[in-house]
Amino acid sequence: MTLIVHKYGGTSIGSIERINAVADKIAKAKQCGDDIVVVVSAMSGETNRLLALAKDANPNPSPREMDVLLSTGEQVTIALLAMALAKRRCPARSYTGGQVHILTDSTHTKARIVAIDDKNIHQDLKQGRVVVVAGFQGVDESGNITTLGRGGSDTTAVALAAALHADECQIYTDVDGVYTTDPRVVPEARRLDFMTYEEMLEMASLGAKVLQIRSVEFASKYQVPLRVLSSFEHGQGTLITAEDERVEKPLISGIAFNRDEAKLTILGVPDLPGIASNILAVVAESNIEVDMIIQNVGQDATTDFTFTVHRNDYDKALALLQKKASELGAREVNGDNKIVKVSVIGVGMKSHAGVAAMAFKALSDEGINIRMISTSEIKISVVVDEKYCELAVRALHSAFNLEVEVQEAVRES
Ligand code: ADP
Ligand code: ASP
Ligand code: MG
Repeated sequence: MTLIVHKYGGTSIGSIERINAVADKIAKAKQCGDDIVVVVSAMSGETNRLLALAKDANPNPSPREMDVLLSTGEQVTIALLAMALAKRRCPARSYTGGQVHILTDSTHTKARIVAIDDKNIHQDLKQGRVVVVAGFQGVDESGNITTLGRGGSDTTAVALAAALHADECQIYTDVDGVYTTDPRVVPEARRLDFMTYEEMLEMASLGAKVLQIRSVEFASKYQVPLRVLSSFEHGQGTLITAEDERVEKPLISGIAFNRDEAKLTILGVPDLPGIASNILAVVAESNIEVDMIIQNVGQDATTDFTFTVHRNDYDKALALLQKKASELGAREVNGDNKIVKVSVIGVGMKSHAGVAAMAFKALSDEGINIRMISTSEIKISVVVDEKYCELAVRALHSAFNLEVEVQEAVRES
């Protein structure tokens, strides 16, 4: 018997018509003999609506209450889908995260899954039921409701697939697979038939929101075959596994971008040992994650220090840095929250020189100024002004010929 975990995102179940269409799809798959566990998100727009309501009630709501509120979106869709399945004579039972017992840590609004109790699910499957589980939520040890961060239903689905040893985890969404970049920004982007976890992890970490990063980490850790496909049309989608099915490895697999960025600079700080740790410690103590870091070459015994944070943390980080600056006798603090990070990703670039130069030329040909650069063996990231985001993505996509299948390829030696 094949066990498949399906996950349907917000747009895929954004109305009763869509819920009925998804129910038809699941009932059909069930008739073909698969055991099915379904994970659903809230209806599209619902989580944002709840966030806005919370803000109206209290601009600084407690994360615990936030989770109680946000988890309601998914509770609506599991019930509606189970009802729609029953109407199709497809027995189904819905469960909240707490009910199937998705145990998480207590980090409200970005909790991590610790364990899953699959007893109820196995029992239902044995009795021929489809099991419908609310994505994005769990409970901590004290029974408090938790949520897993935006896009967290992907992670619920993969974690369930891992716990149940499912044959595949299928992520149904509003695109028919993973593309070389967001097809909404570059219509010429090309769908990839196969990808490795490593490539997808890099794409997700660098901003491609098609999958939540944690879901790809889970898939890689537990070797869950992961498929991204459309809930609106038929197709094979993109299969993500450990093995690379391609004979020829592409030099560049894709371009990702992240609009959630902001940068902060502290100018004229005394150039002394320990200065970087001194500045970053204050940010880390406030649970603010720092991404890129640059320290300029010192002059006149002082130096400048720039780093990026999530845009939501910008105001808080700026206030902390201003306080720190006066303590350290720094000259000035400035910041910019209208920036984006654009990244060229490719496992094949490990063995290839000149990729960075090509990327920088493509940007300069468009008159785009690069504000920061960071590189690793398999990616080049640049920070540019927000207004250039789409132009930069398009320029890089075209410079590396990603719209055509056979780019310059690196053969496995
Ligand atoms: P869901 O609600 O189903 O979880 P998301 O909005 O979270 O859907 O993710 C799907 C979206 O991800 C697509 O509509 C697309 O705009 C975006 N996206 C970003 N990068 C990529 C990419 N490389 N390939 C495919 N989609 C991408
Ligand atoms: N409803 C949540 C969100 O909008 C979780 C998800 O869709 O995966 O982020
Ligand atoms: Mg999503």
